[in-house]
Amino acid sequence: MNLNTNEAEKLSLRQYLGGMLAATTADELEAAIQAPHLHPFSGPTWSRISKVRDQRGKEICEAHSLGKFVPRVDGRTITVCGETYRVARGGNSTGVRYAWHSVGEFVQSILLRDGFTKRAAYRIWDNCGRYPHRCLAIVESALKAKYPDPQLNRLVFAYRSSAGPIRYTVAQNEADSVDGRASRPCGCGGTRFDWGCGFSDSFTYISWPCNACNAVYIEYVTPDRLEEIRQQCRGVPSAKTRRSGRAATTRKI
Ligand SMILES: [Zn+2]
Repeated sequence: MNLNTNEAEKLSLRQYLGGMLAATTADELEAAIQAPHLHPFSGPTWSRISKVRDQRGKEICEAHSLGKFVPRVDGRTITVCGETYRVARGGNSTGVRYAWHSVGEFVQSILLRDGFTKRAAYRIWDNCGRYPHRCLAIVESALKAKYPDPQLNRLVFAYRSSAGPIRYTVAQNEADSVDGRASRPCGCGGTRFDWGCGFSDSFTYISWPCNACNAVYIEYVTPDRLEEIRQQCRGVPSAKTRRSGRAATTRKI
């Protein structure tokens, strides 16, 4: 497709779908999807567009040498690396969600087995349901080691905050019985505080800004480490209560 904007504005639904059907590579399909055609994102027209996009995406993956790494979703049947999973009928919406969660774990475990990182496996799973052709680029990058998993439970420099150091003192933190935060010393002499969680490709991380310098570090955490940090977050008085609680247990023993 080589349309200038004026021509593109005139794209009818038929031309738009035709562009997708004519695509023979993932890049061509992506260009066809991005072609400016005004359409709704729900309703019968959107269903029709989604169906064509999905079908063409699957065919492009099928013909590609790396296509076997792209999970193929056909109704309740999912195939990846030659292995097939059939999603059980869930019964109610919770059951359906649970069933799809299980298939996600299955797909990611197969990809991990075949050498993909957790981050890459998550991204592939995240895209395969609606935009399978986009998975090809993810697979290619993953095979070039472009999606390394983060090292866990280790501080990594993230960025310098343009807002400067956070305005929060150790004394304030100790006085806060409800929302006290875990803290650790910073190399600059200030103190870093747990400033909240983020989530990235199935990994949880904590932001650790400092109250004396503007360097923000993040720490990707295991569930145990997150629990440990959050235990320290529960305010100073409750931490003292827990400590005395443990002491009492020790005495009993
Ligand atoms: Zn600092």
